[in-house]
Amino acid sequence: MSLGTGRGPTYKVVLLGELGVGKTSLFRRIKENIFDEFSTSTQGIDSCTKVFKVDGESITMSIWDTAGVERFRTLTRNYYRNAHAAVFIYSVTDVSSLHFLTQWEKDTQNFAPNAIRMLIGNKSDLEAEVDDYTAEQFAKMHTFDRDAVISCKTGKGIHEAFEGLAKLLHEQG
Ligand code: GDP
Ligand code: MG
Repeated sequence: MSLGTGRGPTYKVVLLGELGVGKTSLFRRIKENIFDEFSTSTQGIDSCTKVFKVDGESITMSIWDTAGVERFRTLTRNYYRNAHAAVFIYSVTDVSSLHFLTQWEKDTQNFAPNAIRMLIGNKSDLEAEVDDYTAEQFAKMHTFDRDAVISCKTGKGIHEAFEGLAKLLHEQG
């Protein structure tokens, strides 16, 4: 926990998942509330801070996006360092993007063992290959603290998902 804004603790939240699942789209939704179908990926790591209200209290999250480096599997210790929460993202259109999360989950256990872990299925505006049951079983198997389905295109579910996460951080922080 660190004092970032003078309004209470700042929690570090890292976004994880395969290339193309929508991490940067989610990041931009949270940061600027925009969706850009043709955004090009940038290199390096990007972060922003966002304040959520939980029970009248301000919860500040600093949210980290990999910005493309995950394709080289070079997410390092540094990215995970002091993370309070890890958000595992898959695309509901691609079941392999769900299964690949097992790998990121292993890294999280090594580098941020105490982080709250949340599973998010993105692209719910498209036809799903991953059904709710499959996602729930996966979440159960990996003992994720929470799971949700969102669409970065329409914005559906994002606010609720992050408010839920803020609440968990507040309770456990
Ligand atoms: P990243 O590699 O995980 O950062 O994924 P991006 O955010 O770059 O998104 C990959 C592609 O999926 C882009 O073409 C996005 O426009 C698209 N995309 C992201 N979220 C959604 C969504 O909720 N619905 C749809 N239809 N497309 C999405
Ligand atoms: Mg990206």
